[in-house]
Amino acid sequence: MTKRAYNFNAGPAALPLEVLKQAQEEFVDFAGAGMSIMEMSHRSAIYEQVHNDAQALLRELFGIPSNYKVLFLQGGASTQFAMIPMNLLTPDKVAAFVMTGSWADKAIKEAKLFGQTAVAASSAADKFNRIPDLSDLQIPDNAAYLHVTSNETIEGTQYSAFPETGDVTLIADMSSDILSRPVDVSKFGMIYAGAQKNLGPSGVTVVIVREDLIEQSPKSIATMLRYDTHASNNSLYNTPPSFSVYLMGLMLKWVQERGGVAATEQYNRDKTKLIYDTIDQSGGFYRGFADPSSRSLMNITFRIQTEELENQFAKESEQHGFIGLKGHRSVGGLRASTYNAVTLESCKALAEFMQDFQKRNG
Ligand code: PMP
Repeated sequence: MTKRAYNFNAGPAALPLEVLKQAQEEFVDFAGAGMSIMEMSHRSAIYEQVHNDAQALLRELFGIPSNYKVLFLQGGASTQFAMIPMNLLTPDKVAAFVMTGSWADKAIKEAKLFGQTAVAASSAADKFNRIPDLSDLQIPDNAAYLHVTSNETIEGTQYSAFPETGDVTLIADMSSDILSRPVDVSKFGMIYAGAQKNLGPSGVTVVIVREDLIEQSPKSIATMLRYDTHASNNSLYNTPPSFSVYLMGLMLKWVQERGGVAATEQYNRDKTKLIYDTIDQSGGFYRGFADPSSRSLMNITFRIQTEELENQFAKESEQHGFIGLKGHRSVGGLRASTYNAVTLESCKALAEFMQDFQKRNG
């Protein structure tokens, strides 16, 4: 068997070996068609089945109510930063945001290109090491929606509960934690995520959107950038990213076979506990970046006393088969991304490596 790395990449990220093997098995000849899924018409019955099955399974696993559409789009979550205000922000309204760090910032900057924005809460004063207090959100009366980033991939912070927004539509960028824990989808008007962390490979962006919001798109927006175009064509208005959708379907089956989303959350808790405990029991050698109240189950961010030691850690960990532990270039430090497909074995090995590194350098 090929040796697999301990893959802690932030995205694209680890995929389950079982999924990769199944894809390998059916790569050249899918379902007896004499061709791969990539070579097939997206209008063929075989592809349509793959497409619809992935959608149905996501609905089932994530508990998506029937008055929501599930769209498979392209352009990444970054395109949603623009599509959301284009479709849902009118000149008399304000797009409100909870400012939690790097990805919330990008979403706000993009919305500013299309209309008025407001920050309802921010943890800037704490250098984004936590999700801000949500009990006193400053949501303008004329808010079109409130946008949250459920998991800040770079800072390693995650909402443990979502705000109550009353009549104001709640929209969440769940790019880095979708399907990692059960979520009450009915609280949201829209949830979106690039697939390349928890759902599969890059190339497909999942948008879960309530039907009444789809109808709001102004008629002046480009056809491809309108939610109603994709909703009324089952995400087959144009050629979909068929291979990505197929692989996402395999990954969804994998989650189902392992007991679904609640079981996945427990697994993620067990995995991350090994690493957070190592940080907390290191007597200050390792320092977690996120405040314990906001720690992410997906991206564990930490520092060591000196940058020199951090560089040494990054280098030595690679020599031991650990990939992707250097923090994002914008914040430095170290980061272990522990998405759904990262194994307990990988996390155990990392915790042991961290303890050993401390022994040698502490
Ligand atoms: N939002 C979050 C929380 C992310 O982590 C990322 C990607 N790292 C994005 C948005 C951007 O996603 P994409 O690269 O798919 O545009």
